[in-house]
Amino acid sequence: MQMNQETKNCQNCKKDFTIESEDFNFYEKIKVPPPTRCFECRQQRRYAWRNERTLYRRNCDLCKKSTVTIYSPNKPYKVYCNECWWGDGWDASSYGRDFDFTRPFFEQFAELQHEVPRMALLNKNSVNSDYTNHSGDNKNIYLSFSTWGSEDVMYSTWVFYSRDCMDSSFIYEKGERLYEIIDSRTSYQCQYGLFLKDCSSCYYCYDCRGCNNCFMSSNLRNKSYVFKNKQYTRVEYLKKLKEYDLSSHLVREGLNKEWKDMMQKDAIHRYVISERNVNSTGSLIFDCKNVKDSFEVNKGEDSKYLYSTIDPKNCMDLYHVGLNLELCYELQGCTRTSNCQFCHLCYDNMNAVYCDTCQNSQNLFGCVSVKKGEYMIFNKKYSKEEYLTLKEKIIEHMKKTGREEGEYGEFFPPSIAPVYYNETQGNLYMPMTKDEVLAKGWHWEDNVPRTFGKETIKSGAIPDKIEDVSDSYLSEIFICIDCSKNYNITQNELLFYRKEILPLPRKCPNCRYKRRFDLRPPRKLWHRQCMKEECPNEFETTYAPERPEKVYCESCYNKEVY
Ligand SMILES: [Zn+2]
Ligand SMILES: [Zn+2]
Ligand SMILES: [Zn+2]
Ligand SMILES: [Zn+2]
Repeated sequence: MQMNQETKNCQNCKKDFTIESEDFNFYEKIKVPPPTRCFECRQQRRYAWRNERTLYRRNCDLCKKSTVTIYSPNKPYKVYCNECWWGDGWDASSYGRDFDFTRPFFEQFAELQHEVPRMALLNKNSVNSDYTNHSGDNKNIYLSFSTWGSEDVMYSTWVFYSRDCMDSSFIYEKGERLYEIIDSRTSYQCQYGLFLKDCSSCYYCYDCRGCNNCFMSSNLRNKSYVFKNKQYTRVEYLKKLKEYDLSSHLVREGLNKEWKDMMQKDAIHRYVISERNVNSTGSLIFDCKNVKDSFEVNKGEDSKYLYSTIDPKNCMDLYHVGLNLELCYELQGCTRTSNCQFCHLCYDNMNAVYCDTCQNSQNLFGCVSVKKGEYMIFNKKYSKEEYLTLKEKIIEHMKKTGREEGEYGEFFPPSIAPVYYNETQGNLYMPMTKDEVLAKGWHWEDNVPRTFGKETIKSGAIPDKIEDVSDSYLSEIFICIDCSKNYNITQNELLFYRKEILPLPRKCPNCRYKRRFDLRPPRKLWHRQCMKEECPNEFETTYAPERPEKVYCESCYNKEVY
């Protein structure tokens, strides 16, 4: 059935939004009603379910041992440590129950969530990597998140198949010896860089490829010994570099400011980051075909409204979802899923709908924490025929329950999320005050982990140069110059600073994470014109109109850079 484009009013923000005719085809294919919220409000609802990096200590409700978890001790849920949760010592189907057709779905689902044990956090097949979440196949990972197949990574986010990295974000593949590197791939021994590819020994660079030994430069291709965008001989370059004592905090502070100024005033910015794509829109999209309005997507096809997604086909509205995805809609934190809709933290499933933390299962509806299950509804087992009949009956019921537009077709509301808004990525990407959050009927965590006032050293008393930092600093408690939170330095961290000649950080890990976040392009598009004189080209860009950078269209950018 071919439907025309339709304008609707968002039930959350009350702004108008458009549903395109091809969107209706998708909704028809997976038999869900069209959305009642705009895509930003739909994304906010998924953000509100992702506590990626707020970690707590809490006792496992089965073995009673202390474990690292994303659920604060005061949350009214049963939480099992990973060993117990994945073990055979309990059975999720023992919590199975009948669906009550006199009550709304989400209300009953929340009750089930309060009883079935939750996984402390998602950390699979890792060695010596307790402080991580949404991660797996790692060795020696510390306070790093969404990190896979990596070794010796600290304080980083979204790092794939890399090693010896610290304070870096969105390292797509094969990074090694990186520090403060953002949205880069296949680079070695670089510090402070944004959009680097195949680079080595580059410092304070922006948008460079195939370069080595470059300093404070932008938009370079296959260059060596470029200093502040000027070509030098090797000997001259090394002499220039010697003018800076990179072991000094004061020198680094100056360079950091110069780097930001260079990116704002001198560098040419391509309107979006888009490579090897066909008929696709959004930014940070790679090898995609017919992918629209999406951010951070690799190898996608015929999909729309995706955020941080790998390998989707025929999907819409996904956030942090990856690998062999087909016909998926409204998922958060899911991997290897086919024909799944409205799920949170579900790995290796087929035909799962409205499920939370279910693994290696198929044909589940409204289940929590099921492992290797089949034909289950509200954690209760059925025959295939019973399952299909009951599932359809509940869907029909859900179309009439809850608010006037019904429950079916809506992702889980943030009001029943087991994590609270200020613990989630929502607080970072779409911040709200506590009052605003509570006014929506969502929750706020007052006891987020943080320590103040326990510092044993003032930041001014930290030695300026790394060579003057002795091992005794491992027992000091530091105070962040931005937020005053206390933090400490680990042994591996100190070894890294010494090896890479970096001064001790004066900011806590969270403020460093926030600093990198602020340098990345936002997940939002604005309509603008190319800033090259006399170029009439217009585009959708991640640079807001008031931004100071030089933002160029594809052809003007290519003329300047290649
Ligand atoms: Zn909205
Ligand atoms: Zn346990
Ligand atoms: Zn801080
Ligand atoms: Zn142009």
